[in-house]
Amino acid sequence: MSQSVMIGELSWPEYDHLVRDGKTMVLLPIGALEQHGHHMSMNPDVLLPTAMSERVARNISALVAPAIAYGYKSQQKSGGGNHMPGTTSMDGLTLTSTVKDVLKEFARHGVRNVTMVNGHFENSMFISEGVDLALRELRWEGILDFSVVALSYWDFVTEETIRSIYPDGFPGWAVEHGGVLETSLMLHLYPHLVDMSKVVDHPPASFPPYDFFPVKPSWTPHSGCLSSAKPASASKGKLLFDVCVEGMSRELATAFLPA
Ligand code: ZN
Ligand code: MN
Repeated sequence: MSQSVMIGELSWPEYDHLVRDGKTMVLLPIGALEQHGHHMSMNPDVLLPTAMSERVARNISALVAPAIAYGYKSQQKSGGGNHMPGTTSMDGLTLTSTVKDVLKEFARHGVRNVTMVNGHFENSMFISEGVDLALRELRWEGILDFSVVALSYWDFVTEETIRSIYPDGFPGWAVEHGGVLETSLMLHLYPHLVDMSKVVDHPPASFPPYDFFPVKPSWTPHSGCLSSAKPASASKGKLLFDVCVEGMSRELATAFLPA
């Protein structure tokens, strides 16, 4: 059998051998099934953190768990909205419980360090809540040395990279949904899932300074994207991928060391 870093590809004795002493860190990608415009598949929020996790795991001898492939409800101002066809989401409580349950299972196997690698903007606080509940319940069971890093991959894109990717000004991560960041990364890693001839070129979406429920579908650009992917390219994707993998590998190499 291969020496994969992907937990799902290991036999149980191989996995058990690697994690039972608590020394091997597990990366847990978490994303969403969400529309990303006419030009791209609906799975970038899962594929991108998974691909980065795999590379990071090889760099620092960690393991990658199968991704949590559904996320919290798409919000209109960061993901186009949960009314869009294809977008398939979980209630906050379900996502929180899913995170908690999976973390507690890893703890039962012996794992003591887990990194949540988020690829979907709306997941963040539900990840925090799931982690908090897991830590609390593990404390009740007498497990006091379980710790978690929670990160979103785009936070590892440096200012310098932002300046070179967005020479005309950076619109902000929220309206990057289906835009240059995700499309460039997909062109670099999974070009067969992108069709640049179907990109709808429009200015970044602009919203009032509040959310409205139920959503007003007219707020979301017709494309489903919140900014144009026209300037996306595979070479920008390589730059973004490398800077994220490098930053995560560096930070995670020391994040779990005692302060
Ligand atoms: Zn996305
Ligand atoms: Mn998303």
